[in-house]
Amino acid sequence: MNGIPSTPSPVNEPIFSYAPGSPERAELRSELTRQTEQVIDIPLIIGGQEVRTGNTIDVVMPHNHGHVLAKAHMAGPKEVRHAIEEANKVHREWSMMSWEDRVAVFLKVADLLAGPRRAKLNAATMLGQSKNAYQAEIDAACEIIDFFRFGAHFAEIIYGEQPISDPGIWNRAEYRALEGFVYAVSPFNFTAIGANLPGAPAMMGNVSVWKPSHGALLSNYYLMELFDEAGLPPGVINFVPGDPVEVTKVVMDDQTFAGLHFTGSTDVFRSFWKTIGNNISTYRSYPRIVGETGGKDFIAVHPSADLAAVKTAIVRGAFEYQGQKCSAASRAYIPESMWDALKDPLIAETASLKMGDVQDFSNFLNAVIDRKAYDKIKRYIDDAEASADAEVIVGGHCDASTGYFISPTIIVARDPNYVTMCDEIFGPVITLYIYPDEEWEKTLELVDSTSQYALTGAIFAKDRRVIRHATNALCHSAGNFYINDKPTGAVVGQQPFGGSRGSGTNDKPGSMFNLLRWVSSRSIKENFVPATEYPYPFLSDD
Ligand code: NAD
Repeated sequence: MNGIPSTPSPVNEPIFSYAPGSPERAELRSELTRQTEQVIDIPLIIGGQEVRTGNTIDVVMPHNHGHVLAKAHMAGPKEVRHAIEEANKVHREWSMMSWEDRVAVFLKVADLLAGPRRAKLNAATMLGQSKNAYQAEIDAACEIIDFFRFGAHFAEIIYGEQPISDPGIWNRAEYRALEGFVYAVSPFNFTAIGANLPGAPAMMGNVSVWKPSHGALLSNYYLMELFDEAGLPPGVINFVPGDPVEVTKVVMDDQTFAGLHFTGSTDVFRSFWKTIGNNISTYRSYPRIVGETGGKDFIAVHPSADLAAVKTAIVRGAFEYQGQKCSAASRAYIPESMWDALKDPLIAETASLKMGDVQDFSNFLNAVIDRKAYDKIKRYIDDAEASADAEVIVGGHCDASTGYFISPTIIVARDPNYVTMCDEIFGPVITLYIYPDEEWEKTLELVDSTSQYALTGAIFAKDRRVIRHATNALCHSAGNFYINDKPTGAVVGQQPFGGSRGSGTNDKPGSMFNLLRWVSSRSIKENFVPATEYPYPFLSDD
């Protein structure tokens, strides 16, 4: 205790290549086989204990939905109340534990993942969420490691932020945990978000009730194993998969609900905010509300841009992980003068992308997450095929017989406000609008005003004046703005991630700003020479 520790300096975790012949490829393959040959039972984890309700759902592979990977138990209201009790029970001990002990748990999670548990979590992410090896690696291994290593470092900076003191007094800031529990609600698309939503508040001394997504249960359960292996005390993070509406109702009716850490779609977040508002007099404190939500991410191309860079940004930005990244490029604005030269190579490249099972490493794309997502994406494609305002120029093939496969699809819209230019589709679909070159200025206005979101966006241009002008014009259009690069692939510590408007509270998970939301500071003033008489000098006679 008698020391002021510094955390290890964080650096981004190197990305393994999984090239043929590499040891990581062999290890991942054998882990994929192992996980494919078993059907595991996923309990709730409440106060460190496994709880089985008998009310189970099947966890399947999206690319082979007949294959069951696990049976997962679902929490009901009783179990959610139990989880809240267990979290509150350990609140005092965990929040009073020294910060270096708390972040040490998460540094250990990072090291376990960097080494012996890497293949297991990557394989679970591949099989359960239908990611290829590279997409799983940058998510389940590298991003989680980065979240926790950088998180420990940022926590140290926050705790070190202390006030000045006048002579005779000593002022201190104490960064208390929130008084109550944090409700973490995670999406299916990133294992790393599952780790960070309960993990970041826990680093700062909070306890949480975590409701994972049904679409990520296998990897998320293995995360709980990792937290336990790293020494996280029971009850700090409680794992309660269950019916989202039912679980949320119990949580938000509880007076000790102190914060929401959410990532998912905009409508769900808005419904949470409304419920919290309606219940505001129930709570002991004003709950912190952090939500990172949907996007309609753009690529705006100026006539001076490099054609090959634009083509690659569209293909990678729109189709990696089947377009199921909140940052995925889903609308692009192409100048007429470039379109003739871009069209054929773009169609050819898109049509050449291989799609299929995650265990065939030559597949660039895999399946979309579930039937509901498949039906929604297919409906947008079918409507575009039938519309006079749009044309499907490549892709559009949908087949759900074995897995939920949708081929990478490009739509050209004749109307810049056509529905697929505005709505978040969350699948391998991008819509292009071809604009007259002289309307660049008007196009920037369109980019800014077309959708309710402001998450990510990219501009492509060579002319520096154009770059400066567009950067200013699109100041509020994206929380992550890219110049001559695709709008996906943000890295912790390098491009803190998050958007504004309908895309969220922009608290930048993985950064210091997010961690600050999970503390409530107490100012302490200690007086070494307290006044002993009440009169001030000005009260004396002249
Ligand atoms: P989703 O909104 O369907 O689900 C997210 C979580 O909310 C899940 O745990 C789900 O069970 C729960 N949920 C769903 N409906 C609910 C309800 N009515 N009441 C209570 N809980 C409910 O989102 P998803 O399909 O898992 O993920 C995709 C969405 O997440 C996209 O909109 C994407 O843009 C967004 N996303 C945003 C970011 C970001 O950083 N901005 C990152 C990843 C994903």
